[in-house]
Amino acid sequence: MINNNRLDQILNKVKKHGYSLTPQRYEIIRILAESKNHPSAVDVYSRVKSVYPMISLNTVYKNIAMLLEINEVREIKSFQSAVRYDGDVSPHAHIICRSCKEIIDLQVYDDSNDEMTEIYINPKLKKEYSITGYNVEFFGLCNNCKNKTSN
Ligand SMILES: [Zn+2]
Ligand SMILES: [Zn+2]
Repeated sequence: MINNNRLDQILNKVKKHGYSLTPQRYEIIRILAESKNHPSAVDVYSRVKSVYPMISLNTVYKNIAMLLEINEVREIKSFQSAVRYDGDVSPHAHIICRSCKEIIDLQVYDDSNDEMTEIYINPKLKKEYSITGYNVEFFGLCNNCKNKTSN
């Protein structure tokens, strides 16, 4: 669901809001735009640190806060585990493994794939309410964790 232009989209929005583009900021944005595994702030920090060893975790948090403010990153606050971040802000749902906390994207409406789950919205509510987005989380056990449990 993350297209190749996602990095450019975020960078343009950041510039539009008047934020300067430091090399560290660029790297944080790049990681968030390209990651498909919904990293935590600490995950992002570890990756930026390998390129810019002097960066602080606080800098990572500040940049994520800025991206949240301009709606270019999405927060996934699920049970127990650390807050995770998604550089893909297009409407999509998540499936979260209860055991290893892996988070996978799930396109809810996709006609090309019959196996996708559809979310039912009461037509009356749909008519009366102006729905601007959704945030759906499914929980379960991924294949790896399922196999471990049954052994
Ligand atoms: Zn798992
Ligand atoms: Zn996602």
